[in-house]
Amino acid sequence: MNYREPLFRPPAEAGSLIFQVAYGCPHNSCRFCLMYKGVKYNVRRTEDILSEIEEAGRLYPGERRFFLADGDVMALPFDALREILEKLNRSFPNLARVNSYANASSILAFSKEELSELYRLKLNTLYIGLETGSQDLLDKVGKKEDAEKMAVAVRLIQSLGMKASVMVLLGLGGKSGAEEHAMRTAEILNQMQSRLLSALRFVEFPGKTRMFSGYEASSEYDVVSELFLLVKHLELKRTVFRANHSSNPLPLAGRFPQDKQTLLSEIQGMLQSNRLDRKGPGHLPLWL
Ligand code: SF4
Repeated sequence: MNYREPLFRPPAEAGSLIFQVAYGCPHNSCRFCLMYKGVKYNVRRTEDILSEIEEAGRLYPGERRFFLADGDVMALPFDALREILEKLNRSFPNLARVNSYANASSILAFSKEELSELYRLKLNTLYIGLETGSQDLLDKVGKKEDAEKMAVAVRLIQSLGMKASVMVLLGLGGKSGAEEHAMRTAEILNQMQSRLLSALRFVEFPGKTRMFSGYEASSEYDVVSELFLLVKHLELKRTVFRANHSSNPLPLAGRFPQDKQTLLSEIQGMLQSNRLDRKGPGHLPLWL
């Protein structure tokens, strides 16, 4: 496989065969995101991708799960996506699902019929970074998406049978923006009703991330307080929730609605434990 670094995939895609259909992110404007900084966005030639798939099909015919990289694969033209999915279906007889990162604005650029066709070709789970439900904060951090439209996109793909795995970033609003961030995020998530939801933690890298002026990083305690506020206001009917990424001070996982009170008790227990750093970020994993 012709991989070009950096190559990212969500943790849940560890067992998937990855095809890199484009390099980088077509947006690359988000102040908090270092994933593809320095990578010039470039969609690979469809014929190169198709021949790579064909060769992989000969080498690994039993593969079932696939991930298309890099960022926002739904920014590709419909015909290219359809050709890639058709080729995957032909080359891998046991194909179960194809997943990718996606931005809501790109999803909404497709017609309902086009999205249904992609789903028929087993495009299954789209990983969408909501980051925050606060439009003001989205604008400040340079994420060129509309919070309400992200909810529309998630509802649309789920109504067609696909799954949305939505990510939010704790600490993105900093100390002063924490409450607005948590409350608006809960509100948009309640509109979305995504089947999968992950809360990750944003950690500032001075000199690398270019946060907005006035941004004051949240402490470890602040981040867990924000998580409490978020979970308290979530009214989800059928969502698998995870906040167990290694960046989180308190690893959590559960299902909504049945586990909501348990999750809140666990967070409350941590807040009362005196184990959280109230001044700084606390203990960070080595990779951060
Ligand atoms: S957060 Fe997503 S859309 Fe924004 S720059 Fe990173 S990969 Fe691109």
